[in-house]
Amino acid sequence: MATAGKVIKCKAAVAWEAGKPLSIEEVEVAPPQAMEVRVKILYTALCHTDVYFWEAKGQTPVFPRILGHEAGGIVESVGEGVTDLAPGDHVLPVFTGECKECAHCKSEESNMCDLLRINVDRGVMIGDGKSRFSINGQPIFHFVGTSTFSEYTVIHVGCLAKINPEAPLDKVCVLSCGISTGLGATLNVAKPGKGSTVAIFGLGAVGLAAMEGARLAGASRIIGVDVNPAKYEQAKKFGCTDFVNPKDHNKPVQEVLIEMTNGGVDRSVECTGNVNAMISAFECVHDGWGVAVLVGVPHREDQFKTHPMNFLNEKTLKGTFFGNYKPRTDLPNVVEMYMKKELEVEKFITHSVPFSEINTAFDLMLKGEGLRCIMRMED
Ligand code: NAD
Ligand code: ZN
Repeated sequence: MATAGKVIKCKAAVAWEAGKPLSIEEVEVAPPQAMEVRVKILYTALCHTDVYFWEAKGQTPVFPRILGHEAGGIVESVGEGVTDLAPGDHVLPVFTGECKECAHCKSEESNMCDLLRINVDRGVMIGDGKSRFSINGQPIFHFVGTSTFSEYTVIHVGCLAKINPEAPLDKVCVLSCGISTGLGATLNVAKPGKGSTVAIFGLGAVGLAAMEGARLAGASRIIGVDVNPAKYEQAKKFGCTDFVNPKDHNKPVQEVLIEMTNGGVDRSVECTGNVNAMISAFECVHDGWGVAVLVGVPHREDQFKTHPMNFLNEKTLKGTFFGNYKPRTDLPNVVEMYMKKELEVEKFITHSVPFSEINTAFDLMLKGEGLRCIMRMED
């Protein structure tokens, strides 16, 4: 490609300060260094994590920064030592990575790579500690190794999943974070059997993806639990058969669920980030075989409290990071699930705007409207 080895000037949405609207600027994107890849982003979506780090409440503020981590793109050029990707390959960037060499990557049980595991405070490339973005010589920081709110970005090869080039990037881009997290929590960790009863706590995009996993696994009863009653209507499209609002009852919701299911649910997946919902999600599973999976990210000070007898009664508690998927090894297969028309992705995409209207996507998320808003880079 004519641009390989050269600085590319392109548009990016820069967050200059916490909570201030992003501004579209011309940035310079340096060529990829060793083990790095420069990617042309075609579609990017907004996820809650971008909003948390843009608000930077209780987080280390790292500004100016280019946010964004849920996206799809095409490789423009590769740096030294990159052998498994070439210009033209279709890729999904991932906020966590897979180096394929550390103890975690070598273990079949883990996806928590030692080298490339998510790091929210680092705003530079792992290779040389520098940023690849600048405006008039001023460095602009990266975000979780992806920074997809830019027409071009530089990413470590270990944080890119090479996918089927036939897959429509405007749809499968949402598989690079939240949807795979929820889906994998159910399919890889909770593993409900056919005909089982599954409770999903929290019906945001992640919870609905966990619900999609329960539908794919053949669960016959899927109980949605949310404090917002407006969430039930949308959840029906994802196979929700029953809805429980904890606020409608004057006893703990786990007791309500145990009564409804004659002893407890077979599996539960918690996608709220609320510690009380986590405790309820664990206590509502059936003794003898029930498994609860925690996905939501709790507050720093939270403590999980339950009676140890619950464990002796053979209730199992698990947690998951990115749905236990290894980004490079497993994500291409998630895309194939969509290509085979098993996994339905369209129902997660409720809005679409040109990249220039990125602040509209932020407004929608802040108002809690819709699930995913896709931003089109080329419009
Ligand atoms: P969201 O805010 O869109 O959805 C959360 C839902 O939970 C909302 O509908 C809310 O009404 C509901 N809720 C809140 N408190 C509740 C309670 N006590 N009981 C029942 N429902 C309650 O969020 P999301 O984008 O779907 O993400 C869900 C969680 O998953 C977040 O905590 C996010 O940080 C986390 N997450 C984890 C991973 C991981 O790898 N573990 C990856 C991505 C996101
Ligand atoms: Zn690794």
